[in-house]
Amino acid sequence: MESQIIPGATVGVLGSGQLGRMFALAARRLGYRVHTFSPDTDTPTGQIADREVVAAYEDLDAVQDFARQVSVVTFEFENVPAETAEAVAALVPVRPGGAVLHVAQNRLREKTFLAQNGIPCAPFRHVATRAELEAALGELGTPAILKTAGFGYDGKGQARINRPDEADAAWNELGGQECVLEGLVAFEREVSVVAARGLDGAFVHYGLIENAHIGGILDVSVCPAPAVPPGAAAEAVAITRAIFEALDVVGTLCVEFFLASDHRILVNEIAPRPHNSGHLTIDAHVTSQFEQQLRAVCGLPLGSPEQLRPAAMANLLGDVWAGGTPDWTMALALPDVKLHLYGKEDARPGRKMGHLTALADTPENAARLVREARAALHLEPHA
Ligand code: AMP
Repeated sequence: MESQIIPGATVGVLGSGQLGRMFALAARRLGYRVHTFSPDTDTPTGQIADREVVAAYEDLDAVQDFARQVSVVTFEFENVPAETAEAVAALVPVRPGGAVLHVAQNRLREKTFLAQNGIPCAPFRHVATRAELEAALGELGTPAILKTAGFGYDGKGQARINRPDEADAAWNELGGQECVLEGLVAFEREVSVVAARGLDGAFVHYGLIENAHIGGILDVSVCPAPAVPPGAAAEAVAITRAIFEALDVVGTLCVEFFLASDHRILVNEIAPRPHNSGHLTIDAHVTSQFEQQLRAVCGLPLGSPEQLRPAAMANLLGDVWAGGTPDWTMALALPDVKLHLYGKEDARPGRKMGHLTALADTPENAARLVREARAALHLEPHA
């Protein structure tokens, strides 16, 4: 088929973080060449890629030079400016397309898209002024969360408003930008669905993954999500599929959900790319989320999403380095634990430096093992 981009071709990645790195590892394994584009040098993706182009996303000449050297472009970072994606799309396919980026990179557009498609999400109001914040609080009540409409991730750009008298502080922190006020969801658990859709419309998913966050950042993911209420997984998958189809997504995408205490399922966020909660698919599934992304954007058949063993993933944030360099041999000594490091030098608190994946007979045991493995990084070997 003419639209297939076969092994040996060069794939371009906008962005250069760990998602691009794991994508590049999958692409290299299948015999593709990889070019990455970002303003940074010696990046997690650049260390794996054949070529690391260093330029600003706004440098459209550099963007087009990059596009001319590759057969298809994907991204690992959803805050790529729309003009950058358009400049690429004028020369080679961008997958997933700019429409997905447009919706997912702005919370207001994202929530409006969900509401227009009848997809349940937290109640929200558009807030551009202090007066609008007051009015929105009047309608939604407290507790609520004020979030900037653009450029938010990992809980950044958010301020909790527990009581009406906290509105000033939240506005002073985030105001002056376009924001969304969201009603606080009393959720029991957070879950996600990572899925992929091919150029031919084929759809695969990894079922429900349960996610625990600390300080707005993902801490531990478990797959399959244990003890899910009946019907919840099927509903979350159906919503995910509807999102892929409404946005004509080709590639891997993740939908994050709240499982409310009354068993309702609400969409929290759409990530139009492989997602941190899907990292465990590298070790636990027949085809990883990164290989699915590659296959999808190259117009190839998707691989099986079947799980080989229950699994859990624990992030290694820069905080893990606070007590000195972790003793990797402690994790490597556990035969069912896999270590992934992203090649980053500077272990700042909150920075995603790597992750551990544990495989076990049940998801609960995998979760226990991965937490033990992470804790062991700072234990004396013979203690
Ligand atoms: P986000 O960056 O929007 O995914 O938010 C990061 C984390 O903050 C989420 O994973 C939740 O734990 C929490 N959070 C965000 N929005 C809400 C909400 N409307 N209700 C309750 N918790 C929320």
